[in-house]
Amino acid sequence: MRTYIKDALKKTGKVEVVGWVHDSRALGKIRFLVLKDISGRIQITTIKGKVSEEVFKLIDSISRESVIRVIGNLKVSKQAPGGKEIIPNKIEIIAKAEQPLLIDVSDRSKTELPKRLDYRFLDFHRQKIQAIFKIQSTISMKFREHFVKKGFIEMQPPSIISSASEGGTELFPAKYFEKKAYLAQSPQLYKQMVACSMEKTVTITPVWRAEKHNTVRHLNECRQMDIEMAFVGQMEIMKQMEDVVKDIVSEVLKNNKKELDILGVKLKVPKAKYISYDETAKLLKIRYGEDLSPENERELCKKFPHTIVFVHSWPVSLKPFYIMPKEQDANAKLSEGFDAIYGGVEISSGGQRIHIPDLLIKMLKKKGLNPKDFKHYVDSFRFGAPFHSGWSIGLERFTQCLLNLYNIREACMFPRDRDRLVP
Ligand code: ATP
Ligand code: MG
Repeated sequence: MRTYIKDALKKTGKVEVVGWVHDSRALGKIRFLVLKDISGRIQITTIKGKVSEEVFKLIDSISRESVIRVIGNLKVSKQAPGGKEIIPNKIEIIAKAEQPLLIDVSDRSKTELPKRLDYRFLDFHRQKIQAIFKIQSTISMKFREHFVKKGFIEMQPPSIISSASEGGTELFPAKYFEKKAYLAQSPQLYKQMVACSMEKTVTITPVWRAEKHNTVRHLNECRQMDIEMAFVGQMEIMKQMEDVVKDIVSEVLKNNKKELDILGVKLKVPKAKYISYDETAKLLKIRYGEDLSPENERELCKKFPHTIVFVHSWPVSLKPFYIMPKEQDANAKLSEGFDAIYGGVEISSGGQRIHIPDLLIKMLKKKGLNPKDFKHYVDSFRFGAPFHSGWSIGLERFTQCLLNLYNIREACMFPRDRDRLVP
């Protein structure tokens, strides 16, 4: 809307705009309409007597959120928000919005989140919601671009798998002809196979986790931004994350200034802090061998504000079977695995993987898993598999933490949770 207006102004001052009716006000003989589209808002000002009776009547009958076309003259106006207004010659209703609206779509909507999600299509009419997803689009675009520029190959892992890829997380079963299948909980094994031949791979892919919990930081379907890289260890792979997060935040600051203002978010390119699990446990006074609780994660971020905190070298007992133990020793206490904490929550887990079949079998047994169930996986490392590392950042989780959203559902267009399967 904005650029279109600017171009038109240079020529004749006559403009044609389409958009949604955000607001309308009557003031004696004047009618104000605020028209919105994805790029912004503009005021349409109509004075009785100065426009045709037909246009004036029509304005009074247009319901909020209806889609209209306005043809008129653009005027610079000190009083109008944004400094410009359109004096219409012609108005056409393209799509009428039925009344009453199902939810409050005003800037300070009073409708609670579950109801807003029930009518997400209408919630998308709101500037704040549009701002969240414009920023999310910048995040995923920049993520992909950053790694493709560095020579990573984008991959598309399967969403239907035959057995658990990680153990631990619960899976959604699916029927696959005569066979039993599951929805993928992670692209883990697939990106490792790609990295062990094509060296560097990147993907943004949906994953499904059948955990029954209902929290403000978990979805049952989420998108993961993953990389996997051969010939690097834990430290190098964490640095890759530091670089991409800084790049993404810089891009959001450059691209989405308006959206950050709308959301009232003050963003800064973060610093990075590398700290071992041992040091973290001392710092937070947690018992050795305990996982970080959500409170611990918040506390850690308070100690290091505006910082991605990479907690590395976790105890083997707290990491999945495929994370490399220190010194490639099955009896080591510590591993080459890490978590990244940012904005008070875990945004990512990763580390060096085990590429040695015998060691992998030992670690599977240690975790109480049956190596037979992982035969395909283990065998994939028998024919020239280099050491490699990787990680995974949840797209919605990352958006939530960057924009300080209380509930992760705000960062997902169509969330799937314990109770929600529609829309
Ligand atoms: P958490 O400890 O927060 O439950 P996790 O350790 O189970 O997460 P990982 O398997 O390490 O999760 O997944 C990598 C990343 O994917 C997480 O750091 C997080 O950003 C995101 N993620 C994982 N599970 C979910 C979920 N259920 N909903 C949204 N994002 C998720
Ligand atoms: Mg994790």
